[in-house]
Amino acid sequence: MTVAKTETKEFQAEVKQLLDIVIHSLYTEKEIFLRELISNSADALEKFRHKQLTTDDVFDKDAPLEINIGFDEEAKTLTITDSGIGMTKEEMEKNLGTIAHSGSKSFFTELAENAKDDVNIIGQFGVGFYAAFMVAKKVTVQSRSYAPDSQGCEWISEGVGSYTLADCDGLHRGTKIILELSEDNEDYASEYEIKRIIKQYSNFVSFPIKITGEAVNTVQAIWAKTKSDIKDEEYNEFYKFISNAMDEPLTHLHFTADAPLAIKSLLFVPKDNFETLGFGRMDPGVSLYCRKILIEQDSPNILPEWLRFVKGVVDSEDLPLNISRQALQDNALVAKLSKIITSRFLKHLNKLAKKKPEEYETIWKTFGIFLKEGATSDFTHRDAIAKLLRFESSKSEPGKQIPLAEYVERMGEDQKDIYYINGPNRDAIEAGPYLEAFKKNDIEVIYTMEPIDDFVFSHMGEFTGKKLVSADRADIELPKDDKDEKEPEDKLDSAVADTLIKWMKDTLGDKKVKEVISSSRLVDSPAIIVNPDGMFTSSMERIMSATNQDHQASVKNLEINTSHELIRGLADMRTKDEDFAKSVAEQIYDNALIQAGLMVEPRNMVDRSYAILSRALNK
Ligand code: ADP
Repeated sequence: MTVAKTETKEFQAEVKQLLDIVIHSLYTEKEIFLRELISNSADALEKFRHKQLTTDDVFDKDAPLEINIGFDEEAKTLTITDSGIGMTKEEMEKNLGTIAHSGSKSFFTELAENAKDDVNIIGQFGVGFYAAFMVAKKVTVQSRSYAPDSQGCEWISEGVGSYTLADCDGLHRGTKIILELSEDNEDYASEYEIKRIIKQYSNFVSFPIKITGEAVNTVQAIWAKTKSDIKDEEYNEFYKFISNAMDEPLTHLHFTADAPLAIKSLLFVPKDNFETLGFGRMDPGVSLYCRKILIEQDSPNILPEWLRFVKGVVDSEDLPLNISRQALQDNALVAKLSKIITSRFLKHLNKLAKKKPEEYETIWKTFGIFLKEGATSDFTHRDAIAKLLRFESSKSEPGKQIPLAEYVERMGEDQKDIYYINGPNRDAIEAGPYLEAFKKNDIEVIYTMEPIDDFVFSHMGEFTGKKLVSADRADIELPKDDKDEKEPEDKLDSAVADTLIKWMKDTLGDKKVKEVISSSRLVDSPAIIVNPDGMFTSSMERIMSATNQDHQASVKNLEINTSHELIRGLADMRTKDEDFAKSVAEQIYDNALIQAGLMVEPRNMVDRSYAILSRALNK
């Protein structure tokens, strides 16, 4: 082997920073360097296998597809060799001198921020090739591309600032990485240690990993095996392998079908929701195979976007092997596959919810937000998702969430709709005016406590044929618990009430209220804001105003309780001191807005309420 024409090049600035973190901060779990290098070799072998499908014109045609690991306990070196696709000089410069891969880039920024000590998180992202510098003081990469007339090349670096590149003759196809281990890491030049690490992290790599000619990994596609032949530990190991996780999954689904499509699939729900942990949007985690050959790693085409937290493998022999990424996107077969697998997965969750409710509860608490995203965006699976939703309600124990079906079961015979109301928490909802009428008539109300919830219900529209109706709608007609209910005795005389209502409407004006109405739903509160058009709930309006400055909230109705002493007092005050009565009317309106969770201009409101308080004290 001869090496010639050495050039020295600087690493890109981001690579220098990343190397600095890799060398100085990542003390824990150093052994993942091997996983990273083996996984690069496996990728390179997969890419080569794909090339072979379309061309015979490749260098070293008969070299077996495998990874070989060698070490020299004397010289303290470790060598990882693959017969994969290899790299040209230009590719080496680009791949090993810059960070182009978005995964590595986001890992790098996030790692710097908040994950330095979290092994699980580091594992999930991976630092790729640069992990070699966690254990090596010098790394040599020799590579020869699969292209028949390519020139071999050698890359050498000590991981600080620069690297050298030179032509290198006499190489086989693929890539050889030689690590000169640093003093603290010399233990890795041991067969025993290397075997242990491979078993732990790389057991399921789909090419043989050989040490002195003997394969040490279990090369098998466990998704293609019969369920009864697989132990739970094997499922867990496989999960850890595909998702670089250190912990166990919450559930798995191993599913095979012959018709209408031949499918073998193995899906996992991980333990953590990395999006809520502040790690940005997750990438899809299910890879697509055809007869155990990888078609697309972490495919965005196989599951809908809202299932991006699921990890696993889908294998279908009906797929054409050499399909391009572009073609995958518009392929009708892939769309059908996606639909079948999504339905099957949702069915699995539903079954789990029935058979092992505690296990489902954990999944719901961790990933429920994704199901809600699905309910707002995926019409095809909406009904199946709806069965999996969980909410608290006025009849659930505090903190316990129930399925909508349980609500429906409890509905009275003459109750047609399902009612819900939004609020920041259970106490706030129960203290507000919206529940009064429901309590009085013993009607259950679902509590929607997350911002997305009202959008979910508004997209769903109904559940098992029952309309989903927000309790802040103006036109609610509740089935009465007591049909012969008497009018409260202290109710305002209807002529007085009518005059007061007209006066309040004029006082507040068209911009604030569409109508003022005598309420039939209030018991203890003087007034309530309700939505006349029923399009958006107050909670939705609040979110839309917060996210879009141009959003014009619709004009609401104000219902007043003509039996309430404040309203009766107002009717009286109007005739004695109209200016003061106006202040009180405006304050009642603002208070009702606050209870509806709608923004109130605080300055005017506070000044006005001080004026009212002063007057009360001076009486
Ligand atoms: P990632 O694997 O996440 O893309 P890495 O830093 O590990 O990031 O590797 C960068 C690139 O270098 C890879 O995308 C691949 O193109 C190339 N590469 C790394 N190792 C090998 C290898 N053994 N054979 C061929 N190409 C490789």
